[in-house]
Amino acid sequence: MCRFIFVTGGVVSSLGKGIAASALAALLQDRGFRVRIRKFDPYLNVDPGTMSPYQHGEVFVTEDGGETDLDLGHYERFTNTNARKSDSLTSGKIYREVIEKERRGDYLGATVQVIPHVTDMIKHFMQDDLSDGQGKPDFVIIEIGGTVGDIESLPFIEAIRQLRNELGKERTLFLHLTLVPYIASAGEIKTKPSQHSVKELQSFGIQPDILLCRTSVTIPPEALDKLALFCNVPKARVIPAMDVESIYEVPINYHKEGLDVQVLDFFGIPVSETSLNLGLWKGLTQIQNNATKEITIGIIGKYTLYKDAYKSLIEALEHAGISKEMRVMIKWIDSEDIETTTEEAFSTLMESLDGIIVPGGFGKRGSEGKIKAIGWAHEAKIPYLGICFGMQMAVVEAARRLLKLESANSTELEDSPYPVIDILREWVKGTSKEERSTKDDLGGTMRLGAYPCVLKPNSMVAGLYGSASQISERHRHRFEVNIDYREDFEKHGMVFSGMSPDQRLPEIIEFPDHPFFIGVQFHPELKSRPHTPHPLFLGLVEAAWIHHKNQNPAS
Ligand code: GLN
Repeated sequence: MCRFIFVTGGVVSSLGKGIAASALAALLQDRGFRVRIRKFDPYLNVDPGTMSPYQHGEVFVTEDGGETDLDLGHYERFTNTNARKSDSLTSGKIYREVIEKERRGDYLGATVQVIPHVTDMIKHFMQDDLSDGQGKPDFVIIEIGGTVGDIESLPFIEAIRQLRNELGKERTLFLHLTLVPYIASAGEIKTKPSQHSVKELQSFGIQPDILLCRTSVTIPPEALDKLALFCNVPKARVIPAMDVESIYEVPINYHKEGLDVQVLDFFGIPVSETSLNLGLWKGLTQIQNNATKEITIGIIGKYTLYKDAYKSLIEALEHAGISKEMRVMIKWIDSEDIETTTEEAFSTLMESLDGIIVPGGFGKRGSEGKIKAIGWAHEAKIPYLGICFGMQMAVVEAARRLLKLESANSTELEDSPYPVIDILREWVKGTSKEERSTKDDLGGTMRLGAYPCVLKPNSMVAGLYGSASQISERHRHRFEVNIDYREDFEKHGMVFSGMSPDQRLPEIIEFPDHPFFIGVQFHPELKSRPHTPHPLFLGLVEAAWIHHKNQNPAS
């Protein structure tokens, strides 16, 4: 039987509904159930692809090319399962479907309304495309973005209310995540905000079945009694969700507080304690706590004040660090600062780093700072990983410094007589050909999702990826390395060590005269999982550790 668990949030945003949904999924999966997680976002963009990282954080790209909410990254990392485009829905996409249907005349003369037409469409998408090779999952966890009471999320709340009526209590569970704040001056925690949030939910016809209470201190039993009484939830189903150091402790904590058992009990599924093995999560947190080696990786970008913009990257470094029993410290560097700082401050900064990453990015602002840092990394032999824009800027840097094409640039940034990075005009997707020009819409038109890449035998990346001669990685870009310059670059030591199978698109470049200098056109961070750290990040942290030891022989 396929059951639905709806996760809503109250009181404030950013309580970590995505992590909560992911951790619950991990626990259910650990008990042998098959789980799918989906996110419904109330905003009107069709997808987050055109939104600034400041608005929305990272855009997570799925194998099938969906530009989705960053929570899908957590889902993949906690369940080690690939998400799909259909797992991320927005009001924009739902309204677009409804309006297209209306234009086709499919509503047969009806007045098209939020209830029932929009809510029907929401319910359709919630239940659509759930099967994988083994049929429908045992549980579908659906996270409703935003906070209960937001005008935009009302149709979603109404749709899940209707689904409870249609599918019954045996197949639906409402889990509400709230905040139980601690007021230091009063020395007390407060249950009132949670009470209000549940009242709000009740006013829409929804009674939460489980209350998950985010808290920074232990909630005393009297407060749990109060929450149970006022929120009309059995006490065993008022579950404290205590702040933790590492997100990998969350499944362990939820289990300790009884969340998975209460979910199974709610659905009348017998709980066999023996089937739960929290080994992975316990192992990860243990290594995190015990690591003695430490390296510092500089991430040079333009959204460095807003860490959500680099969520998967941070996680990928963490996974690689855990696997190598290292603590990976991140130094966030604003690329515009590099452009204005003194030479002395710049070299001091660079010398403090054991490795450098220039991650994905868009636009001219800060690009010269990135190029300057990449040049330093190349010459000072600091391990460097350039991701997408970071690869493109490494190619521009090499064109200027090695090929002496001083005005070389990417045409994304300016018109250049040496367009070493140029717009992708056509490429092969599966068996069909995709074509683009500068006149296309910006939304959904990049080269998106998983593409194969053939590795050059005996290259550094071939060594890192192990026995594979062809790999598959996820892309999100509109520009590419201009293949016309390949020979010139090769004469100056650049190796094109990864190419699309038709040999037309450069996917990876490297410099063998450097201990670790790799640029990749794709986003390896999207495929790194705690279960399987990504080989490129493993390679980077290892090279960074060697660099660190060379610089600090005493460590
Ligand atoms: N702006 C570049 C492009 O569109 C790089 C994109 C990225 O880093 N994801 O090609």
